[in-house]
Amino acid sequence: MRAPAKRLARVIGLVGSNPTPSAIIEIDHDKGNEMETVQDLTNLIVRESADWQSPPRYYTWTVGCQMNKADTERLESALSQMGFLATTTASDADVIVLNSCVVRQSAEDKVVGTITSLKPLKKAKPTTVLAVMGCMVGPNQQSQLQKTFPYVDVFMQPQQYKPLLDLLGNKLDMDWEGCVGTLAPINPEVTTYVPIIHGCDEMCSFCIIPYKRGREVSRTIDDIVNEIEHLVLRGVREVTLLGQTVDAYGNDFQNKTDLADLLEAVNEISGIDRIRFLTSHPNYMSKRIIDAVASLPKVCEHINIPIQAGSDRVLEQMRRPYTVQKYLSIIDTIRSTIPSVSLSTDIIVGFPGETRTDFEGTLDVLKKVGFDKVHTAAYSPRPGTIASRKLPDDVSKEEKQDRKHLLEDIQQTINSKINETYNGNQYEVLVEGHERGHWKGRTRTDKIVFFDSTAELLGELVTVNIQSTGPWSLKGSLVQN
Ligand code: SF4
Repeated sequence: MRAPAKRLARVIGLVGSNPTPSAIIEIDHDKGNEMETVQDLTNLIVRESADWQSPPRYYTWTVGCQMNKADTERLESALSQMGFLATTTASDADVIVLNSCVVRQSAEDKVVGTITSLKPLKKAKPTTVLAVMGCMVGPNQQSQLQKTFPYVDVFMQPQQYKPLLDLLGNKLDMDWEGCVGTLAPINPEVTTYVPIIHGCDEMCSFCIIPYKRGREVSRTIDDIVNEIEHLVLRGVREVTLLGQTVDAYGNDFQNKTDLADLLEAVNEISGIDRIRFLTSHPNYMSKRIIDAVASLPKVCEHINIPIQAGSDRVLEQMRRPYTVQKYLSIIDTIRSTIPSVSLSTDIIVGFPGETRTDFEGTLDVLKKVGFDKVHTAAYSPRPGTIASRKLPDDVSKEEKQDRKHLLEDIQQTINSKINETYNGNQYEVLVEGHERGHWKGRTRTDKIVFFDSTAELLGELVTVNIQSTGPWSLKGSLVQN
């Protein structure tokens, strides 16, 4: 039996008369802007549970897409505001959260393996709270999951943090809703993801996401702008606006608000240098959005627009409501409006019924468009999807791998050729951090750039002269401004 939680143990300090842990704003006059110091958040109020360390610690583990990463950051923000400290070791944590992905079998296997591997830890230390969130937890699936993993305390659907926060609030005798303000990440990176639309209304036959994340729900422009303003105070210089169908933003509103309106509003935020958005759907890539990318100075000339297959027959089976011709005409419009644009796409090879001729159609699209980046996946049926129920998985594993490798080889050559055009030219680079002993940043067109400097440049916009290129990155030297 659990020992009863100790009531509010000690109050170290409060801000004003409001006993809510909140960040402190301080003005950094040298830099001429406001900086928010957040490291003191957990010192404002510490509440204890007899079951846990003081202050209590959390550990998060995330697998999957950028949306999952963004969801984890938002939960971490809530936990920090409740007085929890982060730890990098599961065995050192009082609360363990696994954010799951089931888009591919390999991801699901990883999640199941990780949940199972925590069983001995939970047995040895039953006071540890174990939570599983994300795409493994669809609507009405909690009871089945609870039967399979009885040692897990909480299952939460994507973005539905309440069940865990209620449980932790009870243990700490804390009204968490009164403590947790914005869910903007507490210690964000220089470049950070901001979800703007949740869920997906498409029903691509291969995809499990609509069943797990529900219908599209857009956040209001005011809410998004408010979050980005917080992020600027925490050092963020670039935001990537995120959605499964990001260009469908606003379609669920009564008024005519769309992604172009949101880009315009974010472009006005002082302190933000760059704006990107991910992932677009060809059906919603309107001329208004393309014009906004072309005209708004902070919006980067980089668009990810998945085609998935270069055969109309396969696209129909995938329930992707466009033809190859229509897709290519959208690319033409983007290119003629934004001549310096870089384009990336997603492709699935070996979809049920995909013949070698269909696959060659995909290779033709690659050669015609000249994408800067291609994310390729070999089809694997996901239980519960339309494809898994209706379309036999009739392309052999070997053939799928063969097509994937062939496509990747062709794309590598295209990447190399495009990147060579950067050689000898100067580009604005946003410095994101250090990697393998070099500074690492990205151009507006999303090219990774390495260069050397002894100066402290994190978060700075610098100019780099490109001196060598490869298929995946560029190298250069810093141009002294
Ligand atoms: S657009 Fe299609 S592939 Fe993308 S999340 Fe929605 S259903 Fe899945």
